[in-house]
Amino acid sequence: MPGFNDRLQAVLNQRQQDGLYRRRLTIDSAQGPVIRLGGREYLNFCSNDYLGLAAHPKVIASFRQAATEYGVGSGASHLVCGHSSAHHELEEALAEFTGRPRALLFSSGYMANVGTLTALLQRGDTVFQDKLNHASLLDGGLHSGARFRRFPHNDMANLAHKLAASTACSLVVVDGVFSMDGDAAPLAKLARLCTDHNAWLMVDDAHGFGVAGPTGAGSVEEADLSGQDVPILMATLGKALGTAGAFVAGSELLIETLIQQARNYIYTTAIPPAVAAASLTALQLLTEEAWRREYLGQLISRFRRGAEQLGLPLMASASAIQPLLVGDAAQATALSERLKECGLLIGAIRPPTVPAGTARLRVTLSAAHSETQVDRLLDNLARCWSHD
Ligand code: PMP
Repeated sequence: MPGFNDRLQAVLNQRQQDGLYRRRLTIDSAQGPVIRLGGREYLNFCSNDYLGLAAHPKVIASFRQAATEYGVGSGASHLVCGHSSAHHELEEALAEFTGRPRALLFSSGYMANVGTLTALLQRGDTVFQDKLNHASLLDGGLHSGARFRRFPHNDMANLAHKLAASTACSLVVVDGVFSMDGDAAPLAKLARLCTDHNAWLMVDDAHGFGVAGPTGAGSVEEADLSGQDVPILMATLGKALGTAGAFVAGSELLIETLIQQARNYIYTTAIPPAVAAASLTALQLLTEEAWRREYLGQLISRFRRGAEQLGLPLMASASAIQPLLVGDAAQATALSERLKECGLLIGAIRPPTVPAGTARLRVTLSAAHSETQVDRLLDNLARCWSHD
């Protein structure tokens, strides 16, 4: 019988052969439009630091100050003695910003999603998920014990049909902005469907929070929906806010339930208080400096206009995530490598992260980019694409 070594090696070899082997980059600088690795500088078009706050001097200063005050480690889980006033203040600010009674911090978005779904759902319930939902939502749904039903991407007729056929306690779960496609969920339609079928709606707004909506409160604000329409709002702090961690916002009842029941909340060390303090400063910057969102919008239009003129395979996205569809995984990797040689970092996204045959370059834009940098991106894309 073959042992683990043989099995693991065979899987890795297959990944290599399929052009799906994953490798990490080791960065030697702060996040920003230009990052350093291996002694060379690269234009960075693959981070989720949408507003350019990850290395903002005020965010760094808050982090430093809080580390001096609280130390680095939180020391314990929130329910033991790891919950500091820095965490508390951030939760209150996030609740107010999102217009919800309460917000609860989690150590990561992955944990928030799995923790929330496994705490709320039980056997006999049904969870409905968009096929392109983030892996953490799918994993949470699968682990929850509820009946797990997926509907084709943004297909409201299909979902309506499934909801009508269900008599169980139902939860519909979507990304607000889909992480690998950049397009938005039709939240107003989803909310109406959920109301009609007495289902709850959960939105993971990792990529909309801080960027979408008139005040930056995200996709739910953009769709002009309330806490009643979307009882469960989740967002991460590691993207537009530029820090790390995540939160769930909702009713008193929801948050108290999560504190009592979400295993990913209860049995893990709280994020460092300094991360919470830095996140609070980033949230203040986000609200005070609307120009970041507006300017990012201008860069997105500039990129799309330029890419269209070049005949590049844009996808239907209005967000900072602007994927270019390649199809073949090996070809996407080769393009990403070629761009790297030209001094640009753009991730090749391949299966199983995206469906087979839909490998892509995932271009992400940030308010920290200049127009000249976006033009350089377009010039290089034109050159590398015509290489084929
Ligand atoms: N949800 C979505 C839609 C995401 O894109 C991500 C991050 N890639 C997560 C959840 C997980 O968040 P975190 O990185 O904080 O674990």
